[in-house]
Amino acid sequence: MTSKILLYYKFQPIADPDAVRLWQRDLCEGLGLTGRIIVSKDGINGTVGGDIRACKTYAKKTREYFKGIEFKWSDGGAEDFPKLSVKARKEIVSFGAPGELEVDENGVVGGGVHLSPEQVNQLVADNPDAVFFDGRNAREAEIGRFKDAVVPDVETTHDFIKELDSGKYDWMKDKPVISYCTGGIRCEVLSSLMINRGFKEVYQIDGGIVRYGEKFGNSGLWEGSLYVFDDRMHTEFGAPGDPDYVQLGHCVHCGEATNQFYNCANEPECRRQYLSCEDCREENPYCAECTQRATASPASPA
Ligand SMILES: [Zn+2]
Ligand SMILES: [Zn+2]
Repeated sequence: MTSKILLYYKFQPIADPDAVRLWQRDLCEGLGLTGRIIVSKDGINGTVGGDIRACKTYAKKTREYFKGIEFKWSDGGAEDFPKLSVKARKEIVSFGAPGELEVDENGVVGGGVHLSPEQVNQLVADNPDAVFFDGRNAREAEIGRFKDAVVPDVETTHDFIKELDSGKYDWMKDKPVISYCTGGIRCEVLSSLMINRGFKEVYQIDGGIVRYGEKFGNSGLWEGSLYVFDDRMHTEFGAPGDPDYVQLGHCVHCGEATNQFYNCANEPECRRQYLSCEDCREENPYCAECTQRATASPASPA
């Protein structure tokens, strides 16, 4: 039995998100799929895994309602998700601005212009003052980002509005701004928030960093590793030894170059993910803050 993972999102108005939630839950349960699905009045965002035939049936049925939805297929399966969670929420990506986003049958209204990976390179070549704007959490950008990207000081997407309203980025309001995130969904919302706040020329990358990396690997404008939200914590577009392969992150303990995040061992009190080299991790499985606290007081951090 071959299994697969499906990743997808679609912005479209949903009159009754709870009815869609129930339908999606029954559909997945009937097919034996597990994963995580969020439905809101603005659309659907999900990752499900299971038998390849079940995934195909799921994609076909879901497409009947979400016309034109694109599914990204990847390796893996139901074993990557412990259970099925299907929820109706205020937003499918949580920016804390459910009233601001406007969605119609074509998707987000007034969002950034979509660019293919090739168009991104062309835009930058034609406009020396174009700016990359990281639409992810600052932590994700520590190990990889677009060349000379501006990385906002955000811990979660909820921080973006405050950050944009702070005036820190007003200098780029008249410049071409290319927003980017992992798979593109966060920039669908972020780009519209930026345009609403007076950014005049905002772009977003179709399929996000994932698609750009598939196209250009490390030989384009992307530098470093891609942070991912599973146990791997990062993925690469090239291999070590590849002349364009760079590690942008640094071990919090010794400063050595690394792209590996670890969960601080002081769980559940500390939920930090931090960068460490392998040697330091073996010696000390705690983040810098917990390590400091442990040396300051005689009690161990755990
Ligand atoms: Zn180290
Ligand atoms: Zn810690």
